[in-house]
Amino acid sequence: MLDLVFRTPRIWHPHLPLLAHTPLFSRTNMLVRFSFYIKLCYYIHMRISRLFSRPRKEAPKDEISKNAQLLLRAGFIHKEMAGVYSYLPLGLRVLNNIQHIIREEMNRIGGQELLLTALQDKEVWEKTNRWNDHVVDVWFKTALKSGGELGLANTHEEAIAALMTHHISSYKDLPFAAYQFQTKFRNETRAKSGIMRTREFIMKDLYSFHTDEKSLDAFYEQVSDAYMRIFARVGLGDVTYKTFASGGAFSKFSHEFQTICDAGEDHIYVNTENNIAINEEVYTEETLKTLSLDTATLDKKTAIEVGNIFKLGTKYSEPLGLMYTDETGEKKPVVMGSYGIGPGRLMGAVVETLSDDKGIVWPESIAPFKVIVTGLGDSSAVREKTDELYEMLVRHHVDTLYDDTQDRPGEKFSRADLFGIPIRLVVSEKTLAEGDMVEIKRRTETDTDLVPCDDIVALVK
Ligand code: ATP
Ligand code: MG
Repeated sequence: MLDLVFRTPRIWHPHLPLLAHTPLFSRTNMLVRFSFYIKLCYYIHMRISRLFSRPRKEAPKDEISKNAQLLLRAGFIHKEMAGVYSYLPLGLRVLNNIQHIIREEMNRIGGQELLLTALQDKEVWEKTNRWNDHVVDVWFKTALKSGGELGLANTHEEAIAALMTHHISSYKDLPFAAYQFQTKFRNETRAKSGIMRTREFIMKDLYSFHTDEKSLDAFYEQVSDAYMRIFARVGLGDVTYKTFASGGAFSKFSHEFQTICDAGEDHIYVNTENNIAINEEVYTEETLKTLSLDTATLDKKTAIEVGNIFKLGTKYSEPLGLMYTDETGEKKPVVMGSYGIGPGRLMGAVVETLSDDKGIVWPESIAPFKVIVTGLGDSSAVREKTDELYEMLVRHHVDTLYDDTQDRPGEKFSRADLFGIPIRLVVSEKTLAEGDMVEIKRRTETDTDLVPCDDIVALVK
């Protein structure tokens, strides 16, 4: 490993100079070498020639959704079976970027991250009467060798309420909220929407715990605002509406966040002026009256549910015995809310909404790489300049993919378009002949520009 570190002098790491001042086998020395090695591995994988996932000309014949077709062709995902997909390196980078944005917004409203288990206890679910397949129709269940049954998690209201009985006892413990990114299993009957409806998927689920409804209402609004920030940050802000949907025993309505898109499975009525919408499942005279809306101001649209928020009240805390003692010493059930987003569904919705006839178009905020760099032709001058440009960008922490293959220019360009990388930089005999220039093109534009190599970092950063 150290060999590898010292034989690659052209790649620089900010901690390397430290090595000169520390004893060879000291902790700092080892740590610097280790972090450098990790960085080095990272650099190596950013070259297309080394990337194991190969783009393909055609998506599998049985794949009908646009998001899965494009993501499969680009080598971002792999289809294991209907409704079950693996994320390959490029796809995982997008998913991680989306999760990073969601995590930031959850932390910002005080969410505490945890990770609950995917295997779930039958006894806990029996307490809410939801172990029954007729009540919850998406269960995957399995048997223990030692006897007895387990469930594969399809949601975590039960599990988290049961867990919190160990942590909540007094009103002084409330309010708080906890969230996770965790795998859910759902035996969905429909699996025709690519990564937007899968039988195994990561969900961000947030749960909040309160003494009363007033506290829940205030937090619910904070989550709603955080959700709108998330959808704006991933590039869907203009087409995503907070939508009234069916509630439960505790509240008249819940809210879904619906992204307008023909590939969606839901139908909503949108009022663009007030920025709200109503799901057709609650589109009644009574709802319109309650919300003071007129049918004339509403347009029917097809949409994708990318997230939802729900006031649960005491639906789970009562049967699971999640109680707190109030100021007067009285025992009361904890008031709960639950809030979900599917990062995979969101990724699929971005592909469905923003892609064009050439391929995917990622917003910079979630793109697997911000920049793709390539050299045209096989002259050593071009190769050297392209290497230099790539290393310069990496050194300045610009996420850069290097198309270092010998493929034809047309092939390289259509791959860059298919991958949806926001900025394409090209070095060729032509750009070198103009001086120390690089050609720049944005994925969303058709025109190219020539820019001095020295200006590139400032331009793309
Ligand atoms: P739907 O009505 O579309 O089935 P849901 O009402 O079952 O969704 P929740 O159980 O509240 O949704 O899940 C929270 C979020 O998880 C959803 O808003 C969606 O973004 C995502 N999600 C739900 N089901 C799936 C799935 N099968 N595949 C991918 N993401 C999903
Ligand atoms: Mg569902």
